[in-house]
Amino acid sequence: MSNAILLAPGPVQLHPEVQKILAQPMIHHRTPEFDAILKRVLQDLKFLFQTTQPVFMHTSTGSGGMESLLVNLLSPNDEVLAIVSGKFGERWADMAALYGAKVHRLDVTWGEAVNPDVVQQYLDQHPQTRLVLCQATETSTATAHNIEALGKIISKTSALFLVDGITATGAYNIPMDTWHIDGLVAGSQKAVMLPTGLSFVCLSEKAWKVAQTAPLPRFYFDLRKEYKANQNGETLFSSSVPLIKALDFVLTRIQEVGLQRHFLQLRRRADFTRELARQMNLQLFSKSPSDSVTALCVPEGIDGAKLRTHLEQKYQVTVMGGQDQLKGKILRIGHMGYIRDEDMVETMTRLAQALQDFQFNIDPQQIKVASENWLKSHTV
Ligand SMILES: *Cc1c(COP(=O)(O)O)cnc(C)c1O
Repeated sequence: MSNAILLAPGPVQLHPEVQKILAQPMIHHRTPEFDAILKRVLQDLKFLFQTTQPVFMHTSTGSGGMESLLVNLLSPNDEVLAIVSGKFGERWADMAALYGAKVHRLDVTWGEAVNPDVVQQYLDQHPQTRLVLCQATETSTATAHNIEALGKIISKTSALFLVDGITATGAYNIPMDTWHIDGLVAGSQKAVMLPTGLSFVCLSEKAWKVAQTAPLPRFYFDLRKEYKANQNGETLFSSSVPLIKALDFVLTRIQEVGLQRHFLQLRRRADFTRELARQMNLQLFSKSPSDSVTALCVPEGIDGAKLRTHLEQKYQVTVMGGQDQLKGKILRIGHMGYIRDEDMVETMTRLAQALQDFQFNIDPQQIKVASENWLKSHTV
């Protein structure tokens, strides 16, 4: 069997140059060499977030970034509207409740995007709402929410709009400033194409006013102190030198390619996966599919958990299954990270082989040819 392929919606495959950078000898974070890298990275992150505000790095996973936004902006008993359309929405709602917020869950059917009119109505009826929480893409269901429409609505109120962009920022267009996002979080092992270990957060001016005096205790995630440290050319605590060096490469490369063209590369992978799924007679799960991950329904009569394991063990392709109510029902194929055309052809071909092993009526050779032809006729 040929190469192993990792097309999970995080962690993602690494660019060969990133792998080389990560293997370099350690340097100290207080050196002129690292100072220059940190300065450049903090500048380039604004480009990635499409903002004029400072973007901060935490040495944490994405969930740490979600927590950072909350501890910097919440007051106990704040009314919070949490849009919950899957596992990550649940996580953020639970976190806010743990920190003493009065959380109102707006439950959305898994696989569907929230209706902005419903959010508008809720805010009209609850003008005391302080925060609105939403995923840009709810990764557990591969569903994109309409962040632009929500931002327009929330910007007219006194509430802050916090967006979990962990599978969006760096994957598709989500301009923080023009879409009126007040707090945005990104994560390294997803759309930022690095290993796990960094999260990125940014606050709008409206959010900064709240963050200056918000009363929750915060130590590691205190963005006021992080801001001062960054102004002095440092991070608040020890910098993750290897990851930040690799980030420097990724951000420089995205700038060379161009942000919008970089997004088109992911759109192309998503389009490819959707079109090949159609040819394989596999339904899409989400009614609002994201460009960062695609969820395919496992055909009736096949156990999706067994299919996923079989695909990994026999064909060396790692994709993700579903969680909770979607366990065994979907396969999630990631479009983020370093992905070559041959990885996409091989993934669909080997998926067809795995399905055939489960008595599904499919011709893997035909899928291989269709995959190659589609990619040849759709270049970016
Ligand atoms: C992966 C993910 C997270 C959690 O990130 P960790 O790095 O595992 O803490 C949060 N939100 C979304 C939308 C994600 O995809």
